[in-house]
Amino acid sequence: MTPDQIKALVRTVPDFPAPGIMFRDITTLIAHGPGLSATIDHLAEMANSAGAQALAGMEARGFIFGAAVAARMGLGFVPIRKPGKLPVPTIGVDYALEYGTDRLEIDPTAIPDGQRVVIIDDLIATGGTALAAAELLRMAGAQVTHALFVIDLPDLEGATRLRHAGLRVDALMD
Ligand code: 5GP
Repeated sequence: MTPDQIKALVRTVPDFPAPGIMFRDITTLIAHGPGLSATIDHLAEMANSAGAQALAGMEARGFIFGAAVAARMGLGFVPIRKPGKLPVPTIGVDYALEYGTDRLEIDPTAIPDGQRVVIIDDLIATGGTALAAAELLRMAGAQVTHALFVIDLPDLEGATRLRHAGLRVDALMD
């Protein structure tokens, strides 16, 4: 399947999670076997070009794509978690949301020093989540040069923000 055919499987839900927001919902895409498989193929090709030695994905939708791409490539997967979920000492980064702050945590021992870790998430909007993930992985000693997404919302300029921070950004669709 081409990226355009995969794009047709993404559902748009108006007014979620708040009035005026058009939520791009991947539930319909991952429910479609050939669509999910083709999405993983495309992302794995992008991760391979990026020289990935491991993949990292953000809770929760980044787990779906990141772990599948890692398995397809025979690489390990690093879960980037919401606070308080990991049973071992963690390192964390707080980052700003439109209203308030959020936090991401990882187990730093999950990343061998200097490993090239590619970030994967379902969607980039403002880029705040991916920037925090990159900072966290770098704190743990990873080399982070690429971030991959199924969907980019270009109007929110997250990809531009990431590029200014020295990351290469690629997405399957706008
Ligand atoms: P950012 O930090 O780039 O502003 O927001 C991206 C994060 O929020 C991602 O982890 C993504 O899963 C989630 N997100 C924000 N808007 C949407 C949306 O419309 N659809 C989906 N599937 N996720 C979204």
